[in-house]
Amino acid sequence: MFKIALVAHDEKKAEMIEFAKKHKDILSQCDLTATGTTGKLVRQHTGLLVTALLSGPIGGDQQIGSLVATQMLDMIIFLRDPLTAQAHEPDISALLRVCDVHNIPLATNRQSAEILMTHVKLCLEGGENHADCTS
Ligand code: PGA
Repeated sequence: MFKIALVAHDEKKAEMIEFAKKHKDILSQCDLTATGTTGKLVRQHTGLLVTALLSGPIGGDQQIGSLVATQMLDMIIFLRDPLTAQAHEPDISALLRVCDVHNIPLATNRQSAEILMTHVKLCLEGGENHADCTS
């Protein structure tokens, strides 16, 4: 099963909900994890099963990073707010870095996220359920 993490900064939460609604069919076939508030909102608005970790500012991003480091995630959809300073910027930078260390696909904006969903959809249609699929 594709293991996907969802993270959205406050200004991007509505967009994440819309994204999750649009791709509910695909996401329902994936193992979803999220930072606390993002996870709860996606669950409430879509009914998708999402494991909600701690909220990002109190360690949720670091928890996601540890899942990357231990090969427990295939990709991350991280809708970042580039216009607002975040108190937990060091955690965000660390998460981006660990994705690069482990070569984990990371979408930090909506259009990149759409492209990753297309990839997941093609993989699932081809009977593959891992991010390494070459469809
Ligand atoms: P949240 O965390 O989903 O708990 O709001 C996201 C973040 O700001 O990293």
